[in-house]
Amino acid sequence: MTATTDTTDSESEKRSGPTFEVPVPETDASGVEDSVPCPYCDRPFRRERLRDLHVGEVHPAECTDEEYAAYETALDDEKDDLFTFHMQIVVTLGLLFFVFVFSYMGVVTLL
Ligand SMILES: [Zn+2]
Repeated sequence: MTATTDTTDSESEKRSGPTFEVPVPETDASGVEDSVPCPYCDRPFRRERLRDLHVGEVHPAECTDEEYAAYETALDDEKDDLFTFHMQIVVTLGLLFFVFVFSYMGVVTLL
């Protein structure tokens, strides 16, 4: 029983790390039917993943274990998407480089 309490304390200490002061913009989501509100500050989000990221970063001390697990899952998905985006940029830049080099070589050999 004591070990469970210690785990909960360390979990809450881990979650209560850096908190972010995020300005909440004036948002009117009355026309958006699919908006997902934050359970703590009622800020609307278009997708659950964005709401989960917001809850984990802005309300880490108040959120439940399930919400924090959803935050970690959303954070992993976000990192995977960012890695994929970076790979697409690297491939695009590599292709542009080779197109530029080969077209330059073609122009130089014609002259
Ligand atoms: Zn919130």
